[in-house]
Amino acid sequence: MPEQTKSIDLPALIRRFSDETACRELLEELRWPDGPQCPRCEHVGATRVKGRETLDCNACHYQFSVRVGTVLQDSKLPLWTWFLGTYMMVEARKGVSSNQLKRMLGVSYKTAWYLSHRIRAAMTLANPEPLSGVVEVDETWVGGRRRGVGKGNWRQDKTIVIGALERGGDIRLKVERSNDRRTLHGFVKSVVGDDASAIHTDEWFAYRGIGDENTRHESVNHRDEEWVRGEVHTQGIESAWSLLKRSIVGSYHQLSAKHLPAYLDEMSFRFNNRNNPFLFRDTLRVLMSSDNLEYKDLTA
Ligand SMILES: [Zn+2]
Repeated sequence: MPEQTKSIDLPALIRRFSDETACRELLEELRWPDGPQCPRCEHVGATRVKGRETLDCNACHYQFSVRVGTVLQDSKLPLWTWFLGTYMMVEARKGVSSNQLKRMLGVSYKTAWYLSHRIRAAMTLANPEPLSGVVEVDETWVGGRRRGVGKGNWRQDKTIVIGALERGGDIRLKVERSNDRRTLHGFVKSVVGDDASAIHTDEWFAYRGIGDENTRHESVNHRDEEWVRGEVHTQGIESAWSLLKRSIVGSYHQLSAKHLPAYLDEMSFRFNNRNNPFLFRDTLRVLMSSDNLEYKDLTA
């Protein structure tokens, strides 16, 4: 695999990929390490149609390009635009809005929106492993109107996000309707492995009984201003909440509840790849492996 795509900075990206041939070559290599494979007859081996993206199958002479069957299939955008968009999305710590992409790539808002949703979808296809070790679990409220105004009801137009963070490891985030016992226990069961050594939460009663014989449940009592007790705390997941809220305020402004799950997936992906020097290349590889995503699926 090309070593030079490791931890690529913007000048290097421009130097290496600002021509279509270089982009095409990397995508073909990521997609077909053993040589181009015909999508019609599955023969491995094709001849380049001179000066174009198109390949001609050596067996059945079907003509195809590296875009076929991927999220790039219906796109007329240059590969370089996809490279830049992907780069911006994986490198921006707090995410990139469609408006920002529109301005920076010089495309229409609709194109930018389409591009960002396709890249985001490709960023989130991975099959997550169960969390292990010490796992912090917490919930937060996102969106809605002014906090605290109108007394007890401010939470009604907010959305609950539940998160689990393995210390030093991955994060999982999910939109839920409630933070009751059933929801929280169900979430933990779905993302935390049986062999996790401990689950740390705050004192919220719905977490009670969330441990078992393999997994200790420990809680800190925020109500009594207890934030850390020895190793027991939820400060990792709380930092993730402040990052999430800054992202929403800073990049997305008005985030519709409909798209929140996708944004959470994007944020988790970026967080979980924070130490991955091959993130850009890996994201391109996923773009090359995912099915074509229809516009209508996104707007449904
Ligand atoms: Zn063929």
